[in-house]
Amino acid sequence: MAELVNIFSWSISAREDFSECRRRRYWAKYAMWNGWKEQASELQRTAYRLSKMDNRFTLMGNAVERAVMWALRQRQADRTVTADQAYEAVVKPYLNQCWNESRKKLWQANPKRHCCLHEHYYAAFHREPAEAMTGQMISQVKLCIGHFLEKVLPALGAIRPEQELAIATTGTGDPESFRLEDVKVYAIPDYAYRADNRLHIHDWKSGNPKPVHRDQMAVYGLWANLKHHIPADQIRVHLEYLASGTTLSNGLTDADLNYARCLVTESVAEMAEYLEGGDIRKNTPLPRDDWELSADMHLCERCNFYELCQPELQA
Ligand code: SF4
Repeated sequence: MAELVNIFSWSISAREDFSECRRRRYWAKYAMWNGWKEQASELQRTAYRLSKMDNRFTLMGNAVERAVMWALRQRQADRTVTADQAYEAVVKPYLNQCWNESRKKLWQANPKRHCCLHEHYYAAFHREPAEAMTGQMISQVKLCIGHFLEKVLPALGAIRPEQELAIATTGTGDPESFRLEDVKVYAIPDYAYRADNRLHIHDWKSGNPKPVHRDQMAVYGLWANLKHHIPADQIRVHLEYLASGTTLSNGLTDADLNYARCLVTESVAEMAEYLEGGDIRKNTPLPRDDWELSADMHLCERCNFYELCQPELQA
């Protein structure tokens, strides 16, 4: 099998990591590389393992996404379901499995396959006991599913599978991406379909609105334009805030796509400053110490990589 190469790539979440803390980007993109191999160093192995860590918010997001798609498929098969049915069929088994794997530390044997939760691993940084969080998580997920069934599904129920665009996810090999000049840009919309001579792109959100969500949708628009050759005025994006039951929908323009291009290009240029010779083709990182640590302990307490930074942070 050919050796995997750590090519330069960009995504909204990589931009978030990099802008919040340079060192986090170093651990997540470079130090972890090859950490899955038997001959990996202890540092590579740890960085790889920590890069796979989840937390209750990512877990809730994943659970809602699974339930929403399950309910959509049921509707397409002419079956009506309730929020409780979606919870029992999809969410409960998923949350139980992740929770138990994390509690039993099954990730020690295989961090890619088994869930490790920040709330268990760094329990000292979480004021509430992990068990107290489960009730809140379940209520939030049920609230989101209820709003989806009531407010979103009636409009989506008539969409047929043949109208949908296939979207590669992280569980199916290399996730969805497109190329912007020399850069591989990862963009994984939750759901996209053609209707009314337009492409509609939806993203399910289980948390509160953030400014970065609009950037994310602009990048999805660029994905539709560059990968599927759809003009801006035929792309409509929908941010589904399922906890509040509100939807932000808007059509895109050429200005929106230019905005997305600039956003990616400027962010890539900043990241390239941390590579030898600024060369994204070689993608060789500067030495670790050149990637600054965050000065914000609140950020560090929520970060997967705290264990690796701890000696320097304490010094
Ligand atoms: S623990 Fe803090 S300094 Fe280290 S990577 Fe995370 S945010 Fe950055």
